[in-house]
Amino acid sequence: MARIVVVGAGVGGLATAARLAATGHEVTVFEQAGTVGGKLGRYVHDTPAGAFHFDTGPSLLTLPEVFHDLFEATGAKLDEYLDLTPLDPIVRHVFPGDGPALDSCADPAEFAGRVGAAFGDRAAADWQRLWRRAARVWGASQRDILRRPIDSPLDLAALAWRLGDLAAIAPGRTLRGLGRRHLADPRLRMLLDRYATYTGADPRRAPAALVAVPYAELAFGGWYLRGGLGTLADALLTRCLDLGVVVQTGTAVTRIDAAGGRVHGVRLAGVAAPVPADVVVANVDALTLYRDLLPSPRRLAGLTDRSLAGFVLLLGVAGESGLAHHNVFFPRDYDAEFDAVFGHPGRGVRARPASDPTVFVTVADDPAVRPAGHEAWFVLVNAPRHGTATGAVDWRRPGLADAYADRVLDVLAERGVDVRDRLVFREVRTPADLDAATGAPGGAIYGTAGGLLRPANRGPAAGLWLVGGSAHPGGGLPMVTLSAQIVADAIGPDWG
Ligand SMILES: Cc1cc2nc3c(=O)[nH]c(=O)nc-3n(C[C@H](O)[C@H](O)[C@H](O)COP(=O)(O)OP(=O)(O)OC[C@H]3O[C@@H](n4cnc5c(N)ncnc54)[C@H](O)[C@@H]3O)c2cc1C
Repeated sequence: MARIVVVGAGVGGLATAARLAATGHEVTVFEQAGTVGGKLGRYVHDTPAGAFHFDTGPSLLTLPEVFHDLFEATGAKLDEYLDLTPLDPIVRHVFPGDGPALDSCADPAEFAGRVGAAFGDRAAADWQRLWRRAARVWGASQRDILRRPIDSPLDLAALAWRLGDLAAIAPGRTLRGLGRRHLADPRLRMLLDRYATYTGADPRRAPAALVAVPYAELAFGGWYLRGGLGTLADALLTRCLDLGVVVQTGTAVTRIDAAGGRVHGVRLAGVAAPVPADVVVANVDALTLYRDLLPSPRRLAGLTDRSLAGFVLLLGVAGESGLAHHNVFFPRDYDAEFDAVFGHPGRGVRARPASDPTVFVTVADDPAVRPAGHEAWFVLVNAPRHGTATGAVDWRRPGLADAYADRVLDVLAERGVDVRDRLVFREVRTPADLDAATGAPGGAIYGTAGGLLRPANRGPAAGLWLVGGSAHPGGGLPMVTLSAQIVADAIGPDWG
């Protein structure tokens, strides 16, 4: 049995803590915020009509098996804690112009049929060809990447060369390049491009291997958790407490002690005495870890911060809109949006909020989250991260957040969804707010180092492990839960 400290109670931290406690370790979680869940945040807004409940982070759960496995490994059944509801459509895609919308679903043949009905037989055949390729990429990544530790980025490169499915993975090609090669219809290309943003990346730079992301979503389905995605944080906390994990909120870790090349414990803000530990699992962003908690200039230099953030509106809306659960409203010029939110730091072009962004609207048809006769809208647009560097925007600039919220509502109205005169209230969450609430550097949604190559799970000192969105295998709920499995398995029951 080892004494294990987990730094951060995000999904990755809680999942690791539960798995390690189930194998007999003594586990303590320190969380700087007042609540657990990290980016899987919640907000309740009371009105005379009743309470509106919002998920402020994730709205879509994919790869449910990963969560079933997690609960099973900790001696429980997921269904006893969470009410998983399959979505159809998973996402309604609304394209520029007056053409038809496209509803995605978890039945590949049915989806190809929908593509054909909306965009014609050629588009359906294109999609099916891409789908066969995506299946091969998914098979390879699932087998060789997603469930095994990567000790260094070099490992991943070396591994890729051993893959039998190299032709499908197409190292060196971008997701954009893959779309151009397989898909003639610009609307399908947009649909594919959007999946790069699921890792915080630009499709023009993201690797073609990310075609595994739509495969996972459309093969295994998109799910809602009744009561809100935040119920996952409650369930994980309950599992941890039932297994004897000590969870201390409102407690920031300021330092990891690792003299002599191995961890000895952590330091807490405002507490003089160190907390001893044999193992430390860092659920904080790799950038925070290597800049602040265990300064490591070499590891820090290897991190890229070209990762997307998000600008969020939480809207209380009177009446009913007839929207799907998830709706994407694409812009006329997708590239202009990516140019704006990433900027071109190398050429001195500043990042800026996109004037005509893609707008993602989630409206859960769940009486638990809104008063009768109302809807709780979660509106998300891609945004530059918060900061003062060329590739960032200072979201604290007076007036900016409110002006941009107005702009996003105007854009929605231009795309046929005018909600401005039905607002009961609106709340704005900028990348700066996410940074302040969860320590996500610049408000990066999927962790620093967006894309495929993430920092290794094994840290530079013996007994130090990285879990969560900024480490292998990446961001998003299923990926951080897989990273917890990888780390807990690597530590094993007999550490020390
Ligand atoms: C707006 C938005 C929409 C999203 N949509 C989806 C979606 O639809 N589907 C999906 O799968 N994923 C989505 N994601 C991504 C998903 O939320 C994240 O990938 C995932 O929740 C990250 O988990 P994590 O384990 O990396 O920890 P995090 O959530 O990053 O948590 C880290 C924790 O560490 C704590 N911490 C930081 N510093 C310290 C310190 N010094 N001491 C102690 N504690 C510290 C933080 O407070 C935080 O609680 C979305 C995210 C956002 C923000």
